[in-house]
Amino acid sequence: MNNPFFEEWTAHHGAIPFDRIKTEHYKPALLRGIEEEEREIDAIANNPEAPTFQNTIEALEYTGALLNKVEGVFYNLMECDGTDEMLALAEEMQPILSKHSLDISLNEKLFQRVQTVWEQFKANDFAGLTTAQQRMLKAHYEGYLKAGATLQGEARERWRTVCSELDSLRLSYGQNVQKATGEWSYQLNAETDLDGLPDFYTESLKANGYKVTLLAPSYRPFMQYSARRDLREMLYRAYNSRCTSGQYDNTDNIRRIVTLRQEQADLLGFQTFADMRLTNTMAKTPESVNNLLNQLLDAYKKPAMADVAAVAARAKADGITDFQPWDFSYYSEKLKTEKYNFNDALIKPYFSLERVKKGVFGLATNLYGVTFRKIDVPVYNPDVECFEVIDRDSTLLGLLYTDFFPRETKRPGAWMTEFRGQHINPDGTEQRPIIQIVMSFSKPIGQPTDSTYTPSLLTYDEARTFLHEFGHSLHGLLTKCTYPSQSGTNVAHDFVELPSQFNENFIDEKEFLDTFAADWQTGEPIPQDLIDRLHKAQTYNSAYACLRQLSFGMLDMKFHTLGALANGSIQMADVERKPTDKYPQLGNIEQFEKEAMAPTKLMNTVDGTMMCTSFTHIFSGGYAAGYYGYKWAEVLDADAFAVFKREGLSNAETAARFRHLLESGDTIDPAELYKQFKGDNPSIEALMRRDGIVK
Ligand SMILES: [Zn+2]
Repeated sequence: MNNPFFEEWTAHHGAIPFDRIKTEHYKPALLRGIEEEEREIDAIANNPEAPTFQNTIEALEYTGALLNKVEGVFYNLMECDGTDEMLALAEEMQPILSKHSLDISLNEKLFQRVQTVWEQFKANDFAGLTTAQQRMLKAHYEGYLKAGATLQGEARERWRTVCSELDSLRLSYGQNVQKATGEWSYQLNAETDLDGLPDFYTESLKANGYKVTLLAPSYRPFMQYSARRDLREMLYRAYNSRCTSGQYDNTDNIRRIVTLRQEQADLLGFQTFADMRLTNTMAKTPESVNNLLNQLLDAYKKPAMADVAAVAARAKADGITDFQPWDFSYYSEKLKTEKYNFNDALIKPYFSLERVKKGVFGLATNLYGVTFRKIDVPVYNPDVECFEVIDRDSTLLGLLYTDFFPRETKRPGAWMTEFRGQHINPDGTEQRPIIQIVMSFSKPIGQPTDSTYTPSLLTYDEARTFLHEFGHSLHGLLTKCTYPSQSGTNVAHDFVELPSQFNENFIDEKEFLDTFAADWQTGEPIPQDLIDRLHKAQTYNSAYACLRQLSFGMLDMKFHTLGALANGSIQMADVERKPTDKYPQLGNIEQFEKEAMAPTKLMNTVDGTMMCTSFTHIFSGGYAAGYYGYKWAEVLDADAFAVFKREGLSNAETAARFRHLLESGDTIDPAELYKQFKGDNPSIEALMRRDGIVK
């Protein structure tokens, strides 16, 4: 069979031949990829020579090239163009892939070699290894420990079962959310149901046959602008009861996932799953995570209550005496408009996608000398574009694909992924990265030649999201590392949001807005007084937003520190451990969530709604016991941006230091890397100042 995955992709710097990849190519390619890696692993494990750093650790870095190549395409496409066939194949392949990775992590001969190398170097104070190599050796060794390599007998078999069941539960959880979100819609009556909705939004509704959905570009503006309280309530309930019952119910998945993760921790001798997960992060322990979350809770709770009280008061002026969560966005938006004369309808004409793109790409040119050139290569959907990313010295940094518009086959939200990462091959040649950013902006309406044409116009938040994902993509594109496991965004999960969140800061800077924001029809630049109003509105509801993030972070930590219940250091009403249960069992999930979120609660909780049943970050993505990382990295990003503000937003020397941070991947301890940039440790002060909590 003529399978494109079995060929070397040499055209256009390794651009992916999407025009030739068909669904039927994935399975044979995945299976051959597994076989090849098995052979490679066998060769390392059974090498007759004594184990060395080169023949064991380095060799492990380069196994699985074909499998990585196929998975890089398959899983990214499953998320942004996932046909039923692909979803079914993912389910079919999951146990096979899960077994494959367990066969590697539980390979005893292999582990013995890794352990021998580790012990030899440790005894000699790691002489002969670079800092990056030392980190890598440690990561491999500890990675094996955390993957159950030292478990014996029954425990070893149990570990295998638990890991593979967890893989399957995570997949099922994520698919439930994707389906429940994608399938819901409500047919609005164009005569009676559009009260309060701005033109830009009704235009996009009209293009969709007046169907409102739970996808972000549809759901969010409806909640913000619809004057129809009954419809807001209906939408709110639909959104927040996704996967709480029925066909896509995730509550049992949550129970199983949480219990099995606790069992993993137990098997490896950690008190809780969070303890296990946090060892190779900046935070290191649940205590330091909880310290940060509580420190922020103390500082932000009162201002957040004031934020909500002000919005509720505005609602009361309109006769709403029983303020509900579905009133918050609507009255918050109203109040913001009245207070600052600033809202999305005012900003959108200046934020056409083409112009924002110019600004966002231009930021990288200004700071790092990087340019973007659109190239004509096959794409998997006509909405997708591909760019060559060129460095200051004209060398190629990599390829960047962009996928901006929602589809039914696309997971909601925004993210950055790698089709392939950067590294130096054993023969000394370099593989440059192929990166993608995926977003869900509203589509242009009509064709540019139509008189009624409207381009994709972004909201302020959407432009911010674009900057965020673009920040991740720079982390992936600028990287200059030797080994695959250390390059690009392969860094501690509480450090990985620094480059992305750092980039978001520019959205509030006149210097940046002036580079692109202009009316899409007249070309007239964004007026100074609109920027001024935007500045004033910058801290509006920032304390509320912080509490929201804290509530997610705390919920995550509660789910993943259940082991602490056993010794009584944490007590929660809805978790019990009967004498017959080996692990604490979650009872009523809704109650559990309520209790976990109580410290951050600012509004009524609505019966029958839950956040955790669609909390894909922690139950199907990689953020378990890691959601706090957004806040952790926010301390860093505010601090880093304060350095730029002090030294000049376009200061070449400051930008060069930040570029070094972006290039370094995981070759240096992140705390040390940050210190190299700033010349000092980060402090929480800059974040509180930016949020207007301290003046
Ligand atoms: Zn991010």
